[in-house]
Amino acid sequence: MNSKAKTTDLKKAKWWRQTEKGILCSLCPRKCLIPEGKTGFCSVRANLANELFSLAYGHPAAIHIDPIEKKPLNEFLPRTTTFSIGCYGCNLDCAFCQNYHLSRGSCSTEDFSQFISPEKLVEDALTAGCQSVAFTYNEPVVWAEYMLDIAAAAKDRKLATVMVSNGYIEPGPAKEIFPLIDAANIDMKGFSEKFYSKLTHSSLQPVLNAMKLFYEMGKHLEITNLVIPGENDGDEMIEAFLSWTKNELSLKIPLHFSAYHPDYKYLKSPPTSSDCLRAIKKTAQKMGFTSVYLGNIF
Ligand code: SF4
Repeated sequence: MNSKAKTTDLKKAKWWRQTEKGILCSLCPRKCLIPEGKTGFCSVRANLANELFSLAYGHPAAIHIDPIEKKPLNEFLPRTTTFSIGCYGCNLDCAFCQNYHLSRGSCSTEDFSQFISPEKLVEDALTAGCQSVAFTYNEPVVWAEYMLDIAAAAKDRKLATVMVSNGYIEPGPAKEIFPLIDAANIDMKGFSEKFYSKLTHSSLQPVLNAMKLFYEMGKHLEITNLVIPGENDGDEMIEAFLSWTKNELSLKIPLHFSAYHPDYKYLKSPPTSSDCLRAIKKTAQKMGFTSVYLGNIF
């Protein structure tokens, strides 16, 4: 951790308790036990003097104005721009991560030189003419305190809020955060526990629970599946995902199937072909899904 960061400069984290062996973080299903002076798996939640702090709070690593379709959200405030914010860190460890510079990065000395308040970000979003703020680029769950405060400030100024997430979150924090989020794109990385365990070092069920909770709150949900040849593109796995979505959510949920390109630690599959994605789209449409989009095809 950066030596310049003093606990007085940092935001105290929510969702943790002290144990004999350190702090137990209960924000996501990983439930890290964090000894004094260390960070959790996500690298942005630190046990300092036996209290948990969010190192990411106030220190975005990326800010851009994007078309909302780039999140991707194709059916929420279409043809508008969204003020997009990302920090460092992630609670998953996807071997195929397409954004590892941020997800596996950590807060550096530079990051503490400038603090950007939630109110300032919302003001900047309005000045830029955006109709929403998006929590995106890296996993926003790991900087949930910042996301919560920005979302509350956005609501005060009638600005919509968007979350792009892996959905790996405990139900308690999710019930506090989701009411302040208007729309989300949640990744479903591969419809089996084996896939999640082998390639993301996490599990599928909490992600499905988060999707269901968000949808049942009456929020706008879209789902993305990055299709990796030989790993999660089998007919059986795709059909199981479509059946679950049909039965537990709705045939009207917009689905995004996007092409994988070899990156980070997973290089053994070839890039996903457009034929493979088109075949999946056909299957989904046959099953009755009304909005199926394909992404990353060049
Ligand atoms: S949010 Fe981070 S520190 Fe907390 S349990 Fe998840 S990975 Fe561990």
